Amino acid sequence: MPSRRHRYLTPFIDYLALIYAYIRTLLSIPLRTQQRIAFGKTTTTSTPKAQSSPNSTKRTALQYYKGKTVVLDLDETLVHSVQLSGGKLQTVHAAIQRKQIEVQSNKQSILYLVYKRPHADFFLKTISQWYKVVIFTASMAEYADPVIDWLDQDDSMVSQRYFRQSCVPKGGNYLKDISLAEPDLSKVCLVDNSPVAYELYQENGIPIPTWLNAPNDESLLDLLPLLDALRFTSDVRSILKLRKLTS
Ligand SMILES: [Mg+2]
Repeated sequence: MPSRRHRYLTPFIDYLALIYAYIRTLLSIPLRTQQRIAFGKTTTTSTPKAQSSPNSTKRTALQYYKGKTVVLDLDETLVHSVQLSGGKLQTVHAAIQRKQIEVQSNKQSILYLVYKRPHADFFLKTISQWYKVVIFTASMAEYADPVIDWLDQDDSMVSQRYFRQSCVPKGGNYLKDISLAEPDLSKVCLVDNSPVAYELYQENGIPIPTWLNAPNDESLLDLLPLLDALRFTSDVRSILKLRKLTS
């Protein structure tokens, strides 16, 4: 059982780490501004300064990586997909990256048009320097695998993938057991647009607004200060549970 002093001191130290990391993030705002401009012009995502050379990337990762894992949902968090079945397609802004994916399921071929959430490339590139990145989706592997291949084209950012068969079914929903990705719950968080997904471990959940096709969405950028801070904490739950005190 932790001592009384330890029990009160740990959240306090974590809170100081949060403030410190948040200030660091504010000081690095030019990187984020650069990314926004790049997206507006639909140019290739600019590379963060920390990635300017293989050696500096290695140093940064070694300096800050604390063995933590971030688990990401797929649909309506990183992408949005529509089934192409001959119906009329909605008009989606030209700046949104998209890809057609053909899925073979039950001897049938289904064609999907997959839209990538704004700033998804920059988000994945950035957090994969901070965390082990895992994608955990309630979708079937036949569909999700090629989508993840598209998001992580050189297979360098996403370490593990979990699909529907790894979810816990409950009342028509699919709960995600993130302890599969990291058994130590002090070191793992789940970013998901569906709160029911983190019902098993609510203190580890990080909500994100559902994305369908809004071209100016910045929700992934908005998460970066929090994720930057969480990697410095000894227990991510000590920060994430503070939301309950303020809601
Ligand atoms: Mg989702």
